[in-house]
Amino acid sequence: MNYIILDMEWNQAQGRTKMVQSPVLLRGEIIQIGAVKTDEKFNFIDKIKISVCPKYYKVMNRHVEKITGITSTQLTFGERFPQAFKRFSAWCGEDFRFITWGFDDIGILSDNLELYGLDHTWGRDYINLQLIYKAQVDGERLQCSLSDAVERLGIPMDAQAHDAMNDAWFTYEVCTKLDMERGLAAYGELSAGVRVALRRDVIKNVAECRKMLDDARVREAVCPSCENILKPREWLYYGGGKKTTIAACPEHGDFLIRLTCCKMTEDNWTVSRTIFTADDEALASYEKKLEKQKNAKKRHQEKESTDDNNCSV
Ligand SMILES: [Zn+2]
Repeated sequence: MNYIILDMEWNQAQGRTKMVQSPVLLRGEIIQIGAVKTDEKFNFIDKIKISVCPKYYKVMNRHVEKITGITSTQLTFGERFPQAFKRFSAWCGEDFRFITWGFDDIGILSDNLELYGLDHTWGRDYINLQLIYKAQVDGERLQCSLSDAVERLGIPMDAQAHDAMNDAWFTYEVCTKLDMERGLAAYGELSAGVRVALRRDVIKNVAECRKMLDDARVREAVCPSCENILKPREWLYYGGGKKTTIAACPEHGDFLIRLTCCKMTEDNWTVSRTIFTADDEALASYEKKLEKQKNAKKRHQEKESTDDNNCSV
């Protein structure tokens, strides 16, 4: 088996209202694929860089242009995604496993594959190198960028970051600095606490973010295994239109549901609902946050009633 160390760059919509919503809520459209192929001992075999011409997000998002340096004109020189994918998957071969820095790339790849009706589970069984790096080098930080890791490991930053080929190469260099044999052996354990999405639904035309749970389509999530409606517990409220809960299927156990609300126009919202398996850690964290939310509510009510008393005096 070979390892394919993958990095991609993607363009974003010019604004939320311009986002492609079907067949997937397209967070990013791939414009560059960069990859390094190695054997099981991480000896270099080959590398590839493919520029992709986007079909939907043809104008560079200002922020993406700033970090990648890619202009809208340059985009037109790329290959169309289906052709780029055909060439890339042929290059990857049959027996390989992806290694990426972070979780984002594979999610974006899966969305782009689905966009073109291709197998969106392709390459799903990947290794997030960040987890191995955090276990062996820098466990303290919650988020750690590739360039932080490159610097910390003393790898010379001799090429521009946020270029798919250069970043894939930097990621490869990070691999060579880590004890990959030990890291890969422990990977199952490292990733156990990390949740993998089992199902994602997009609910469009929701009238109001604050009242999204009034909408049965939002409230009623189905079990990823049997499609029965899950029975949710109390919802936890976060800022920024985010809510989570634990919900149960009598047959398949507990799931973690996460809702994110996105404003499309003044009175039109899209809710993205993701379902994860609820492991012990998720359940414990839910209980803890629920307790906190209840206490905050109680304190708020007490304060209200004190205020009322003050008024009546
Ligand atoms: Zn079920």
